[in-house]
Amino acid sequence: MIVVMKHNASAADIDTVIRQIEARGYKAHLSQGTERTIIGVVGDNRPVQPHNFEMLQGVEQVVRILQPFKLASRDFHPANTVVDVRGVEIGGPRLTVIAGPCSVEGRTQLLETAHAVKEAGADLLRGGAFKPRTSPYAFQGMGEDGLELLAEAREETGLPIITEVMAPEAVPLIAKYADVLQIGARNMQNFPLLTAAGKTRVPVFLKRSMMGTIQETLMAAEYVLSGGNRQVMICERGIRTFETATRNTLDINGIALLKQWSHLPVFGDPSHGTGRWEIISPIAKACIAAGADGVMIEVHLHPADALSDGAQSLKPEKFAALVRELKQLAPVLGRTM
Ligand code: PEP
Ligand code: MN
Repeated sequence: MIVVMKHNASAADIDTVIRQIEARGYKAHLSQGTERTIIGVVGDNRPVQPHNFEMLQGVEQVVRILQPFKLASRDFHPANTVVDVRGVEIGGPRLTVIAGPCSVEGRTQLLETAHAVKEAGADLLRGGAFKPRTSPYAFQGMGEDGLELLAEAREETGLPIITEVMAPEAVPLIAKYADVLQIGARNMQNFPLLTAAGKTRVPVFLKRSMMGTIQETLMAAEYVLSGGNRQVMICERGIRTFETATRNTLDINGIALLKQWSHLPVFGDPSHGTGRWEIISPIAKACIAAGADGVMIEVHLHPADALSDGAQSLKPEKFAALVRELKQLAPVLGRTM
């Protein structure tokens, strides 16, 4: 349920509504727009009735949100959420490009890649230090040494860094280094992890599960939001279908619907969405055309030697060409870059 305040409601009116919500055992979440304030009544609020709030001073309207996700919905927060990562505004008019290797493999590899993607126009550097691999025998990542290298790359290039966190107990360690916590597709419904990320105030990049519906994805985001962390981004990275020619099927429908249903920034990841470097460029453009606020692209200096995801990694020069094309596309869609 949301309580929409009148545009001239006073701070005291808002306060009274919040106290009423809390007195009934629910949590009040504030969304302060330029026009008016909306207050989310969060919790299992089936027993609450709209008239419990309707007669309070300053209240314009009380609306039940029919979707099961509340804080993630556009009803609660009509304007786009803009997440600020060290001065990079994500979710506003400007498109965001996140790039870097699938895994941090070593100092030279990471620093050279970081400089190359920065030069090409990337806004954030990605790189996995703790990797969720299907096989226990595959490269598992460099661990904390990888995080140290990411921090060094940020120091050298100025690019904020994003890296994956796989377990709730690892959140403090990753948050010590990273500017954005990535929650991977395999952990989209790791509820203790979502709860732990919700307790931080570090921006979260939540990747859609390969088996998750759009609604389940937004419910996962709701876990983080309801913990009080409002800095959540969602990434469509391909879902499982019958098709075997590509690693996954990037759900363009999902991008467009997520943008309509939610105010959170939405990304496309054509690397994992396709598994094939040859089609990353057209699919990245399709993501942006569908309304994505940015893309995440895997880049490797020598894809053939990559310790993970080489087949879906662009060489730096191909990545630079893609960024040039996205820059041409952006204004056509009313975006900047
Ligand atoms: C990754 O970004 O390298 C990754 C493991 O992604 P996903 O969780 O989408 O598979
Ligand atoms: Mn990868």
